[in-house]
Amino acid sequence: MNCTQQTEVKNTVESTAKNWSRFGLRSELLRTLDRRGFTEPTPVQAEVLSLEDRSGNLVVQAKTGSGKTLAFVLPLFDDMTQGERRPRVLVLSPTRELALQIAREAQWFGRDLGIRAASLVGGMSMETQTNDLRQGSAIIVGTPGRTLDHIRRGTLDMSQVHTVVLDEGDHMLDLGFREELEAILNAATNRTRTWLFSATMPDEVLSLAKNYMKTPTRISLCSERVQHEDIAHRVYLAPERRRIDGLVNVLLWERPQRTLVFCPTRSDTMTCAEKLAEEGFAAGTLHGEMTQRERNTVLGSFRQGRTAVLVATNVAARGLDVAGVTHVIQMGLPDGLDTFVHRSGRTGRAGHEGRNVVILSPREAGRFRSMLRGTDVQVEWLPVPDAEEIGRVGKTAFEETLLAENPDAAMIAWAEELLGKSDDPASLVAALLGRTTHLRRSGYSLAEELERETNREKNRRFEDRPDSRNGRSFGKREIGTYSSGRSGGRTEMRGAVMRLEKGRSDGWDVGRVLREVCIGLRVNREEVGSIRLREDHVLVELSPLAEKAFEKEITEFERRGLVRSSGASRSRGTTGNRREWDRRA
Ligand code: ADP
Ligand code: MG
Repeated sequence: MNCTQQTEVKNTVESTAKNWSRFGLRSELLRTLDRRGFTEPTPVQAEVLSLEDRSGNLVVQAKTGSGKTLAFVLPLFDDMTQGERRPRVLVLSPTRELALQIAREAQWFGRDLGIRAASLVGGMSMETQTNDLRQGSAIIVGTPGRTLDHIRRGTLDMSQVHTVVLDEGDHMLDLGFREELEAILNAATNRTRTWLFSATMPDEVLSLAKNYMKTPTRISLCSERVQHEDIAHRVYLAPERRRIDGLVNVLLWERPQRTLVFCPTRSDTMTCAEKLAEEGFAAGTLHGEMTQRERNTVLGSFRQGRTAVLVATNVAARGLDVAGVTHVIQMGLPDGLDTFVHRSGRTGRAGHEGRNVVILSPREAGRFRSMLRGTDVQVEWLPVPDAEEIGRVGKTAFEETLLAENPDAAMIAWAEELLGKSDDPASLVAALLGRTTHLRRSGYSLAEELERETNREKNRRFEDRPDSRNGRSFGKREIGTYSSGRSGGRTEMRGAVMRLEKGRSDGWDVGRVLREVCIGLRVNREEVGSIRLREDHVLVELSPLAEKAFEKEITEFERRGLVRSSGASRSRGTTGNRREWDRRA
């Protein structure tokens, strides 16, 4: 190390110490912060560390990737006795990967203080965990299921635990974890404080939280904003049945470095990753059906960059911090705004910029717009890039690389020799290019199909509009057996919606629907409201008078196969297709 380097090192230690000094952190922590290159606190860390009294309950909301982990790890370590060996702090996390990540952070920061952290997660050796506990860990990081296992077996002594931290707290209070969480909290008989951390904190969760924590101090650095300044959102519209082809095109077009793709179900992740592998991408999957060893291996490989595209269920939606994720891609409509926010938040971390892409079918676009209504999220809407433009741009880029290249003398000599042997230089270059084209993939042609679908969707929306055929709007209530759930946004309850099991694919159009309904019910056109024509069914709004008529004519409609008969099974099995959060953690 030369002299200037030494001065630089000294300077960073000093500036780290200076930036963190107002919090009076102990020197061991300052040293570790400096070693990690964390020269100054993030805003949420500064807020928590400057609390006058942190002995009470705490609810902290700050955006994804803003350093919430250290916002609880640092004060916890600062308050702990050097060399503490009894379990004093329990951190709970919704997924195993997140628990392991937090435990690693705690291990780093505990090292110089002689404090150990244990991780208790499902799918990994109970025995190793028990040994870790026996050796004396003051900080326990776990998923609820496995933590409770240890409590019940008596291997985790909760009697001295004074603090419970719920990372991703709003999700931890979700129904899926409720029972285990309550049992754990009840076992922490000497708990004096509970801390809740998350990027999202819905009101109903906050009121639920009151059952577990009285009068918490609230720190909120999100205000009402949803838009994360380091994340750019882009929607690509792709044909419904060719979404994965669309994904291939997006990857070829955007050329991301490291990408996390979210699919709704486990089987979707597998289909998607297989397809990507066929297309030559280094893709892996992460979902709850895999063994924990497989899960750890694939995540490790993603962190190291050997797996460039990780296709995951929502098990990876929260908390995961992987450096260098330039793109998040969500396949289809996210479950809700919170899921959208957390998934997107796997990029744009710690001040880096990232892009969040959502691949939607034209049919899903409207629902996505409603999901974002009232938020400040800015989205760029684009049709999925098509083979033609990917090819064109790829070609130009390839040419630019070729033209900018400086071949060495030996290569030039060879080229000249070769040109001497041919009297047609163009054919020669063409032959060479022909041998390289396999390197330039250009994806799928999707433009036409997308246009057809977009137009179909436009027409459908037009037909949906109550005034699109001078029909009146009667408000909504689907008639019992004949409906498949809620049918729309309006809430007046004056009429009903009938569902006919005929649609566009049966050759029906709006005129035919109107005729069938008016003749079948012996009512005037004025008694029929909006008509929503779908591929395989149609929803027809009825006036109260038409509804009465319909009740009389039901059997006739059933007999003609126009409505599903009351006895028919209406169950819509989703088994094997369940949307996944890591419930089995
Ligand atoms: P959150 O829980 O808010 O999503 P994390 O705690 O996972 O965020 O932190 C996000 C990233 O920021 C991590 O890679 C972490 O190491 C890094 N980080 C945390 N604190 C600092 C800091 N003070 N300076 C620089 N980077 C930090
Ligand atoms: Mg976090």
